[in-house]
Amino acid sequence: MILFGDYHTHTKYSRKNHGKGTVLENASVAQNKGLKQIAITDHGFNHWMFGIKHKDIPQLKEDILNAKEITGVDILLGVESNLTSGDGDIDIVEDDYEFLDILLMGFHNLVKMKSAHDLFYINWANGLSVFSPSKERIARNTTAFLKALDKYPIDVITHLNYGYPTDTLAVAKMAKEKGTFVELNGKRINFTDRELEIMASEGVKFIVNSDAHSPDRVGECNNALNLIFRLGIPVNQVVNIDKLPKFENKRGII
Ligand SMILES: [Zn+2]
Ligand SMILES: [Zn+2]
Repeated sequence: MILFGDYHTHTKYSRKNHGKGTVLENASVAQNKGLKQIAITDHGFNHWMFGIKHKDIPQLKEDILNAKEITGVDILLGVESNLTSGDGDIDIVEDDYEFLDILLMGFHNLVKMKSAHDLFYINWANGLSVFSPSKERIARNTTAFLKALDKYPIDVITHLNYGYPTDTLAVAKMAKEKGTFVELNGKRINFTDRELEIMASEGVKFIVNSDAHSPDRVGECNNALNLIFRLGIPVNQVVNIDKLPKFENKRGII
């Protein structure tokens, strides 16, 4: 099993020293580890603390061109967008599609939400809750993700269920329908073995990503790779092992 690309890496564009490295540093590590392609996917625009700014996009484009030329690693420009409402809104607008090679989406806290109601029922309910999730909360979380998958051309759902419990199988099935890949995150897996086995048998496509916040972590996905091996998940359902992925969600030009 050879990892061809890592499609979830952060840089200094995730502000306040949240992401540690530069685009070139991430690409250099990728080059040394034999990766052919990476994506730079800093936190989305509505993240109060770490979100990338729209005004940084031109410089990011330039950094990517430069790093591609120096390292020979292909680099996609992406964003790890945030869910901003229970109605499945995310912090991306159609004008953003033009510069996005790849679009990730995950749940994060400390995000500017669409309304006070969303802040309370989506962020606070999940972020502050010390209790095991109620059926209502899981249903609400699931609905928001299903709607987001329906509304936006999302390529990858990141760290599903991390701090945001959903009906995993319902989300995964919708992802399959929409050509969206379910991430097996290099730092955290929030699925049971059984859930993963069912997703695999349903034909869900997975992508293995590091979620690196520092260059040395780029391409570090051993826990996800071990899981694939241990559960016997068919490698042909993991889009970036032994091959480069084809992202099916087209933005912009139709
Ligand atoms: Zn982060
Ligand atoms: Zn991330």
